[in-house]
Amino acid sequence: MTLKNAREDGLRHTASIESWVVSAGRDRRPGSPLNVPPWPASNFVLGDGRAYSRDDGTPGWEALEELVGGLEGGTAVAFASGMAGIAAIFDQLPTGAIVALPDDCYQGAAGLASAGERRGRWSVQRIAVTDTARWLEACATADLIWLESPSNPLLTVADVDVICAAPRKPGAILAVDNTFATPLNQRPLALGADVAVQSVTKFIGGHSDLLAGVVTAREASVAAQLRMSRELTGATPGTLEAFLAVRGARTLALRLERAQHSAMTLAERLAGHPHVSVVRYPGLPSHPTYDAARRQLRGFGSVISFDARGGAASADAVCTGLRLIQHATSLGAVESTIERRASVPGQEHLPPSLLRLSVGIEAVGDLWADLDQALLTMLEATT
Ligand SMILES: *Cc1c(COP(=O)(O)O)cnc(C)c1O
Repeated sequence: MTLKNAREDGLRHTASIESWVVSAGRDRRPGSPLNVPPWPASNFVLGDGRAYSRDDGTPGWEALEELVGGLEGGTAVAFASGMAGIAAIFDQLPTGAIVALPDDCYQGAAGLASAGERRGRWSVQRIAVTDTARWLEACATADLIWLESPSNPLLTVADVDVICAAPRKPGAILAVDNTFATPLNQRPLALGADVAVQSVTKFIGGHSDLLAGVVTAREASVAAQLRMSRELTGATPGTLEAFLAVRGARTLALRLERAQHSAMTLAERLAGHPHVSVVRYPGLPSHPTYDAARRQLRGFGSVISFDARGGAASADAVCTGLRLIQHATSLGAVESTIERRASVPGQEHLPPSLLRLSVGIEAVGDLWADLDQALLTMLEATT
């Protein structure tokens, strides 16, 4: 069974990404289930090209790859997690490579880069997200240019369009971690990036019930190398996870639209709250990279970070005082989640009272009432 024809059909008949997330990754032959069911298979009867799932994939993984690949606009390879996909990109690097990494980025990517540097595999240059001049220099000299925009957790927007268009050292890879924007708000491959990374665990899965990742490459040859890394390192997606990820992705456009609309409202209200000192949201005109966000993002996303007045203890009190919003680390799901990021080991460099809020799809009035009561209670508890 192959979904390749389904992809061509789908692309031909689908004008918009809102329809693509619903229609992609289906087997359209008469009598097939509308959704590709979970494929619990490692071993296949020989003779039809598919022998062993780690090498040859399964229709379940292919459904997810077709869906995300169509969104990002390239050839997708599904992995066990976002980090497995990131590791496959680093796996392409020759010994002694130069890696350019943002000063603010996902801690897992930064941790992987510094672990490899300690072992003598490559050297890492950290560059400020907004220092476009230095990024352009890095394009000419680095073997891996790693962008993440909006960044985690400061939500700084890089000049992705300018950096992706710059000439690169031959053989270099320019990767964009597109998890926070999702391919609905930003399409790095169309801007000239080589690969785009999704932690499917977050917005695409959307229900805090799976780990998965997808890397999409502009060139099929790069996707083939990533597939080879997946095969050799065994970082394959789970059967149930791939199924749940496609199921979650069906509502991605609806969920994101609602969540980012609510995020804008909450960011504006938080900015006027007497117990909040700083609000970082790419859609607020006060945000330092608002112009870049307006230029590059179709929507501003649903993650906000803000500082509670009164330091770490006050911020902790906000987290534990919330009733509707979950005190939890991850993001991009139907339920709103909040975390004081500097409480996470390795993140102590962040402002101590920075709270990262991932806005879900609950009623915005209820979310605001919850934040407001927790901020007021916090002040009473800590003064
Ligand atoms: C969560 C996350 C990852 C890692 O994804 P996992 O699925 O947890 O391995 C990578 N990048 C960003 C921006 C993330 O938020």
